[in-house]
Amino acid sequence: MTDRPLAGSVALVTGASRGIGAAVAVELARLGAHCVLTARTQGGLEETDDAVRATGGAATLLPLDLAKQAEKIDMLGPSIVERFRRLDILVHAAGVLAKLTPVAHIQPRDWQEAVAVNLSACWRLIRSCDPPLRAAPAGRAVVLTDAVAAEPRAYWGLYGAGKAGQEHLVRAWAAETARTPLRVSLFDPGPVATQLRTVAMPGEDPAGLRRPAEVAPAVAALCVPEEARRGAAGRVTGP
Ligand code: NAP
Repeated sequence: MTDRPLAGSVALVTGASRGIGAAVAVELARLGAHCVLTARTQGGLEETDDAVRATGGAATLLPLDLAKQAEKIDMLGPSIVERFRRLDILVHAAGVLAKLTPVAHIQPRDWQEAVAVNLSACWRLIRSCDPPLRAAPAGRAVVLTDAVAAEPRAYWGLYGAGKAGQEHLVRAWAAETARTPLRVSLFDPGPVATQLRTVAMPGEDPAGLRRPAEVAPAVAALCVPEEARRGAAGRVTGP
């Protein structure tokens, strides 16, 4: 593999303002991809942009609320193609922990936000990005998941239900694209020192956890043209 196996390619990364999404964007840029970075927080996107530039890479920033501006997701794929003539990679890292609460106590507002970000956004991204990803010479899609999707835990039902639904959707998409050059994967990073993890486990010492930059190369590895794993069978777990 060359130093820059993604040179000339275009990647869309959600959740790119911090945490795992930001680290993956930097890694993809280091490997040569032009990264379209999306999240709500402009300042966070700018920090990621600075880190991308430090690798010699380039990014385009696209502030977007996946829950409140869901209809704009529909235009992401077409507008990236209009501007760059291609979309090779989708990494969907945006996620929200939502309230840890008994299932019987889940409030409608919390349900709506969690489902919008952790499930519906994935459906809309697939709808929007599937055509250019299929058309790409070596399209790759990686969706971040969590062990709790398959192993329900008390108080984690709101987050876990969205992640479980998302996993189902991604596996179905992987099956539908099995005869195309597009490779679709789920990636479970395991515990990583990010804001989401701090909120979930406030008493935990983050020093004992992997950092986003340690996890990012494993996600980026699923995005290179040489990658042959497929998500229908391949729920890849973190390094
Ligand atoms: P994080 O640091 O909290 O980052 C979450 C990202 O999602 C941020 O960039 C955030 O950006 C974005 N986001 C949240 N709500 C959004 C919305 N409404 N619209 C647009 N973007 C939104 O979390 P992380 O740990 O890096 O999580 C990345 C992925 O890994 C998630 O899917 C998570 O479920 C998964 N995961 C994490 C762990 C872990 O231990 N950290 C374990 C298993 C799975 P803004 O706030 O700027 O919008």
